Amino acid sequence: MQILDGKALSEEIKNNLKIKVTNAKSEIGLAVILVGDDPASNLYVSMKQKACEFVGIKSILIRLPENISEDILINEITKLNNQENIDGILVQLPLPHQINTQKILSLISPEKDVDGFHPVNIGKVLLNLKDGFAPCTPLGMVRLLEKYNLQDLRGKNAVVVGASNIVGKPIASLLLNLNATVDICHIYTKNLKEHTLKADILVVAVGKANLITKDMVKDEVIILDVGINKLENGKIVGDVDFENVSKKASFITPVPGGVGPMTIAMLLENTIKSAELRGKF
Ligand code: NAD
Repeated sequence: MQILDGKALSEEIKNNLKIKVTNAKSEIGLAVILVGDDPASNLYVSMKQKACEFVGIKSILIRLPENISEDILINEITKLNNQENIDGILVQLPLPHQINTQKILSLISPEKDVDGFHPVNIGKVLLNLKDGFAPCTPLGMVRLLEKYNLQDLRGKNAVVVGASNIVGKPIASLLLNLNATVDICHIYTKNLKEHTLKADILVVAVGKANLITKDMVKDEVIILDVGINKLENGKIVGDVDFENVSKKASFITPVPGGVGPMTIAMLLENTIKSAELRGKF
């Protein structure tokens, strides 16, 4: 069994991006909008800002109160869409209930949508067009497969467990683009094990510790575990019973240190790609 080391690869990518940024003709900017005071969102935003600082991207944090109206948020996005020094716009999710998340994500200019959640960018993923922005977590998984030379999925069965707009659906498209035969499973899938047992490559993005146990996978499976779950003892684990499943796997991502760090690296990569497409290099 080999570990798919997302931490190491993300460091390598960040170091390369840091060198690349020195060749930019003008400053590269990422605007992060954070609504409310959710502790997890605060943590994610500060990690993203730290990573920006490391590679030399200027990050601007716009904090808005929890009870903000949709109109005020739309105003902020419109301003940022038109601001020359801003190459990427990220709205940290989740948003409070009074705000229509899909509407907000659709108002970010697709050219600055470095999270890759705009319908235009999701469409480009589906069509396998490379001039858009793929969502960061799925893109990070593809980079990991490429790093370990596992990206040729012709004749392979890929099974994706979890069908969210930000992880499950786009990774299923990206795996299809790599020529895998793809199954997508979700909460209404009957007999999950019947599907997972067919997987040569298994992506799990649900948010339930120990959802995938060793009897549910075949020998030599490649596993990408996206889940982040905090146990009662404070330990962070994925959706896969790592200790037992890893004994059967050929490659597996650890949690933490697998898919998570790749997500942030891909945010930086997308932001620099945007700057490049906008003529800053
Ligand atoms: P989500 O809640 O939007 O979607 C969960 C999906 O899992 C849904 O499609 C649902 O139908 C499916 N599901 C729920 N229970 C199931 C079951 N018992 N069997 C099969 N499918 C089931 O979640 P999300 O935003 O896609 O995130 C999923 C997990 O990945 C979470 O733990 C989240 O924290 C984590 N995550 C990690 C990263 C990262 O960078 N590592 C990024 C995004 C999300």
